[in-house]
Amino acid sequence: MTIDLKNLTIAKAAEGLKKGSFTSVQLTQAYLDEIAKRDGDIHAYLEVFADTLQSAEAADIRIKNGTAGPLTGIPMAIKDNILIQDKIASSASKMLEKYKATYDATVIAKLKKEGVVFIGRTNMDEFAMGGSTENSAFGVTHNPHETSRVAGGTSGGSAAAVASNMTLAALGSDTGGSIRQPASFCGVVGLKPTYGAVSRYGLIAAVSSFDQIGPVTRTVADAEIIFNAIKGRDTKDGTTIESGDGKTAVTYLPSRMGKKKPIVGIPRSFLSMGGIDPDVKKSFEESEKRFKDMGYEIRDIELPSNQYALPVYYILNFAEVSSNMARFDAVKYGLHVNGKDSIDDYFESRRAGLGKEVIRRILLGTYVLSSGYYDAYYNRANAVRSMITDDFLKAFESVDIIATPTTPSTAFKIGEKASDPVAMYLEDIFTVTANLTGLPALSIPCGTAIKEGKSLPIGLQLTARHGDEKTLFEAGKDFLGE
Ligand code: GLN
Repeated sequence: MTIDLKNLTIAKAAEGLKKGSFTSVQLTQAYLDEIAKRDGDIHAYLEVFADTLQSAEAADIRIKNGTAGPLTGIPMAIKDNILIQDKIASSASKMLEKYKATYDATVIAKLKKEGVVFIGRTNMDEFAMGGSTENSAFGVTHNPHETSRVAGGTSGGSAAAVASNMTLAALGSDTGGSIRQPASFCGVVGLKPTYGAVSRYGLIAAVSSFDQIGPVTRTVADAEIIFNAIKGRDTKDGTTIESGDGKTAVTYLPSRMGKKKPIVGIPRSFLSMGGIDPDVKKSFEESEKRFKDMGYEIRDIELPSNQYALPVYYILNFAEVSSNMARFDAVKYGLHVNGKDSIDDYFESRRAGLGKEVIRRILLGTYVLSSGYYDAYYNRANAVRSMITDDFLKAFESVDIIATPTTPSTAFKIGEKASDPVAMYLEDIFTVTANLTGLPALSIPCGTAIKEGKSLPIGLQLTARHGDEKTLFEAGKDFLGE
């Protein structure tokens, strides 16, 4: 039996399963076949689970019994920093290479209840630090559109797996763009939910005040289905809130300007800065026109503090990373290397277990948090973070959505930026603001550019008010004609 994986969506698959056009075992097997064929070139997966077909069998029983939900029997890949009980969760680090999760992350517990079939764990930049999945301790993930290019990062494995039909959907995590940037590079959809909309319990922490788990999918409707399944308050994560219905906006702002179609704001002067690829610019202008043609009102907005977003993001990122990484002490988790004495065990284990980018961030983060510099860097960055948030809240007094490109360029070559951390960090210019402000942001494919004879995807990023994922889904579906 052949299933048309190229045109499959979660809704279509659920219908096919319900009608008996195929079983979850057959559907899962189709993806496993695709993995066997393609993952040698792409390396999206760190592990394909041996018990995948067993979960598919269990799902098939539920479907037969008539107790299936919209995600029962749907194959999904999981980023390697999200805990699934009794499975390895390595965060693509040697430090956790053999670490087996002792419990399920809240999102996993929720998806298990739904009867989702977990196919495997996907490659990523070590501990979610990077922008290309080149920082994995276990090899680079290649872009399915052109394998000499990066898939993006840090959820590069998840995005590449969805883009190459090696899963129907995936979970990623987003600290500064790690769902949206690889989604953009691979031509798929990625959602970074409102901060607190989705529980972080069981997500290996990178930057606790930025991290969010979210879906990577082929369509906006699929992202919505997964978001609705994983969102919600969780007593195990005190930062969680109810989100997504557009009514429970967390700020004082109204959930919508009262018009039928959302009003789209464009931060014109922010976009006029240098460094944006002309093809990306052109595609963004076409997207703006498309919104206009569909009857959306476009308004120019100002986000003056955005010019500080990158330095602020990286100061806070390094600071929180240095603190979060302290738990890898060679005693509680992961790798243990014997040194001369117990303090030396600590040094030797961290030296052997952590990659260059992680060590760089621990060093810089420790520096910005040190007593002589704390005020000058960490505190100042936090103050500017509030200014950036205020700019966005002000803009949302007159618009419902803010549109920008997701990334300033299309997927770059493997190795092109790996030795230049600043060039890599500059890739995050449009994505970090959603994490600094806690706002929800969606990346959708909006066009392609020809680079060296190959067609590469371009992404459009839409940001909405806190708690207003609903408007993002609405506009995203409208834009893509779903
Ligand atoms: N590229 C950004 C960074 O390296 C974002 C990473 C992420 O979202 N996990 O910090």
